[in-house]
Amino acid sequence: MKSTILRGGRVIDPAAGTETVADVVVRDGKVVDVSTVPVLDADATVVDVTGLVVGPGFVDLHSHVHSIAGQRLQAFDGVTTNLDLEAGLMPIGKAYADAAAAGRVLNYGFSASWADARGQVLSGITPTARFDSSTNLLGDPDWQRTSSPAELAAWLELLEGELAAGALGIGILMGYAPRSDPKEFLAVAQLAANAGAPTFTHVRELVEADPTTPIDGSSEIAIAAKETGAVMHHCHVNSTSRRHVDRVLGTLDDARTAGSRVTVEVYPYGMGSTSIGAFFLAPERLDAWGLTASSIVMLASGERVSDVRRLAELRETDPGATCVVEFLDERDESDRALLRQALAYPDAIVASDAMPLEWPDRREDTREWPLPTGAETHPRTSGTFARSLRLMVREHGLWSWPEAFRRCSYLPARVLDEVAPAMRAKGLLAPGADADLVVLDPAAVTDNATVTDPTRPSSGVRHLLVGGEFVIRDGALDVDAYPGRPVRGEAR
Ligand SMILES: [Zn+2]
Repeated sequence: MKSTILRGGRVIDPAAGTETVADVVVRDGKVVDVSTVPVLDADATVVDVTGLVVGPGFVDLHSHVHSIAGQRLQAFDGVTTNLDLEAGLMPIGKAYADAAAAGRVLNYGFSASWADARGQVLSGITPTARFDSSTNLLGDPDWQRTSSPAELAAWLELLEGELAAGALGIGILMGYAPRSDPKEFLAVAQLAANAGAPTFTHVRELVEADPTTPIDGSSEIAIAAKETGAVMHHCHVNSTSRRHVDRVLGTLDDARTAGSRVTVEVYPYGMGSTSIGAFFLAPERLDAWGLTASSIVMLASGERVSDVRRLAELRETDPGATCVVEFLDERDESDRALLRQALAYPDAIVASDAMPLEWPDRREDTREWPLPTGAETHPRTSGTFARSLRLMVREHGLWSWPEAFRRCSYLPARVLDEVAPAMRAKGLLAPGADADLVVLDPAAVTDNATVTDPTRPSSGVRHLLVGGEFVIRDGALDVDAYPGRPVRGEAR
């Protein structure tokens, strides 16, 4: 097969921590050579990338984007593999089959959905492998309660079946059932440890926000990792920790120092996105989170919630409606510094928590490009990675390029090495690595998405290859490219 040569770029190997001017030779979906001596091959497609940064494509552990349109936005943000591991989808077989049938631009994969397994047993709701069916569950009081021993055994068995069917670990939305018995969490962690599968947790309340919480959300991660030996991944530490990020990172640090397998992810925004019916947005809980009703904006209508009466009304009428929540004030330098501190934490992984796109006519996907206007989503869907690079590499000099690729590509792939051996060829740039590659302009890379224009693609990604195939070439999308392949778990 014909080779592609990326000629003369600044080639980043995040495993070695090096940057070298070299040619990268791609064939049959793999990197076959990285050479500091120009490679001569008259048959090859040669792309001059002099002055551009060439690295392994970003591996997003936390993306709720299950659409072609959403994956294309993430491609312009440098992502080559997008995985929904925090929420997951159930049944997992249907999730993979639906994605394959529609076609995917990026590599994809899912965890087993703890929420859906509980929903099936506690609320009698049959899951449909759709993200919105899971989020609709979250406000259901029956789903939020503690399971009986028989119920616990029933949904653990469901999760075990999902792992056997190829799930990439277990996604645990604990923060949405924060009064349930911590013993349940330990039982899930034990199941994951036995299966050699990681867990991905949206933690429950912090003790600072709710002194009556059955257990502090971040301590729970540390305890479960220590007691079971499971790989415990702490999702979006920025949004669940808010102004307590120092303490939470300290808790995780102690766990890591003691040898527990704890990992953590961050997205670089001071606002989050969730369903208006979420437990932690109850009017009486706002104070503990340092919020007021007007910190919340409804996505579909753009309505800023005026007061707690209106909040209660919105939660009652449409608990699944999506809103953004300003948990930090990005106009305030001390809050911006908190975000940078979370990103700068040793080994913190960048992950987007990308949200579905939805147009006013309720359409959720399109093959049209450029995207039709008017889609709602959180700007992090489009801009997380480019914004992290802009902030941490360019504006604040806190990461070198090799360090940036370690955070965005190398470390996230390593979280999955054990459950999905195919990941061992991702997040790397060396002979034998998968040819999932991003080529970007280091001086130009930036996010462009805002709350009012959340689907404006990032700029600066000049080329993007998935499995050796161009998705973006010379800054333009190839609308016929669907090279995305599934990444599946092989739990033991
Ligand atoms: Zn979450």
